[in-house]
Amino acid sequence: MVFGFLKERRRRRLRAQPVPAAWRAIVERNLPIFRRLPRADQAELLGHVQVFLAEKIFEGCGGLTLTDEIRVTIAAQACLLLLHRETDYYPTLTTILVYPTGYAVEVEEPIAPGIWEAGDEHRLGHTGRRLNALVLAWDSAKHGAADPADGENLVLHEFAHQLDFENAADDGTPALGTRAEYHAWARVMGGELEALRAAEEADEPTVLDTYGAENPSEFFAVATEAFFERPHALEAKHPELYAELRRFFRQDPARYSSEQVDRAERPSV
Ligand SMILES: [Zn+2]
Repeated sequence: MVFGFLKERRRRRLRAQPVPAAWRAIVERNLPIFRRLPRADQAELLGHVQVFLAEKIFEGCGGLTLTDEIRVTIAAQACLLLLHRETDYYPTLTTILVYPTGYAVEVEEPIAPGIWEAGDEHRLGHTGRRLNALVLAWDSAKHGAADPADGENLVLHEFAHQLDFENAADDGTPALGTRAEYHAWARVMGGELEALRAAEEADEPTVLDTYGAENPSEFFAVATEAFFERPHALEAKHPELYAELRRFFRQDPARYSSEQVDRAERPSV
């Protein structure tokens, strides 16, 4: 990928700036996973955070007053997905809207062919391919980071959707390098999605949140959460899926995760 020379130079400068001590303290306090990363990865992550915060607009909604804690905690989680990869920093995303807590949106849903029902839907986060925005509930974003091994992480979920959009479709397939990689991805993800649907149907315990059975896009977002938060369980039960995600993210969270191995043996929610 070739990016603008000036943009790349500006980003290099941002990454090289000393990180404000207060920001590092926020990351260390709110992202337990950060403390387990190799030192070089910590430095890379904080460099990405500086670019992210310089380029993205944050807006407080629902009466929320933005603070450095909110911005840095969200940015650091979003940038965990960028480590070791050549990245354009979620290029179609301009704005992150943060609510204090979950929020209600009016939706219309088909309840029968040709019949739509309007109602409120409770949401913790949302993004869309044509939105240029991403919405998060701050309490969930903070809680997701605080427990790095419960399998749930709202910020990783929503930013996985953003990665999915990078090749112009929300189909559960992010931008990959070669045709062979696309083939392997389609084979493994397709099979795993079918397996998740079958497990949900049979009411069997699953490592992956069954919300991922909805469609390939949600499957990738849910699998990303599990990859970073329950890597041992995912690697044990779904080695091919784990390997695909390890290749894409160029990370091996099983090496630094705080997930207890015995936890992998227990049925998940
Ligand atoms: Zn989703």
